[in-house]
Amino acid sequence: AASITLEHIGKTYPDGTVAVGDFGLEVRAGELTVLIGPSGCGKSTILRMINRLIEPTKGRILIDGENILERNAVELRRHIGYVIQNVGLFPHQNIRTNIGTVPRMLGWDKKRINERADELLELVGLDPARYAKRYPHELSGGQRQRVGVARALAADPRVLLMDEPFSAVDPIARGRLQEEFLKLQATVRKTIVLVTHDIDEAVRLGDRIAVLAEGGRLLQYAPPAELLSRP
Ligand code: ADP
Ligand code: ADP
Repeated sequence: AASITLEHIGKTYPDGTVAVGDFGLEVRAGELTVLIGPSGCGKSTILRMINRLIEPTKGRILIDGENILERNAVELRRHIGYVIQNVGLFPHQNIRTNIGTVPRMLGWDKKRINERADELLELVGLDPARYAKRYPHELSGGQRQRVGVARALAADPRVLLMDEPFSAVDPIARGRLQEEFLKLQATVRKTIVLVTHDIDEAVRLGDRIAVLAEGGRLLQYAPPAELLSRP
């Protein structure tokens, strides 16, 4: 796993909105850091700067000490898993093909891709024999979310970014998914940054929680137990 260093990063959108003023954080290798805060405080903007879907207007972003702002953004994204609320699986591709998206770009051969897809389906709790050849619309919301995680992990990314990954799932399925995700993380030990506005989710999943306010102002950064014990 890799560490992530955010050094004084900021984003001012072209219309003048200062989404993130000056944000810094050290995400340790193999840890899951949660970004939590009110709607509009800049969480998604920070996450999307790490995979360069959004270019920072200031600051530096290092992954294992390497300045990723100097990399080719498209190439970089192949090494950064990204999971969003409604996954965005390709509707006309079956599950196995969806999971193989990045491995195909990296030029893996078909046999290796299929084996990797089936291995990941097992890992996220979906029987490959039943699900590999299905299409996204033939799965429940929770199952699609699992496939989203499998797809993000396919090429063994250096870090995993998750933006409200469980919020579109109904509350009962969500609890189960969170539990299973914790087990998965214990196995793969990725460096993860996860955005949520759900404090229960933050406490349940986070090794560390970054509490943000408007403009990406960092109020606290600590393990859940420390945050909770503070007056
Ligand atoms: P969060 O994820 O915490 O809800 P966002 O990062 O999505 O917050 O947004 C932070 C701020 O930036 C908000 O005020 C939002 O309206 C603004 N914003 C987001 N995207 C754009 C954009 N493309 N242009 C202008 N302002 C934007
Ligand atoms: P969940 O409790 O995970 O939300 P659902 O109630 O949506 O699950 O679905 C229950 C089962 O039915 C799942 O195994 C799912 O794969 C299957 N299923 C759901 N929608 C379809 C569909 N359109 N075609 C085939 N199987 C489906």
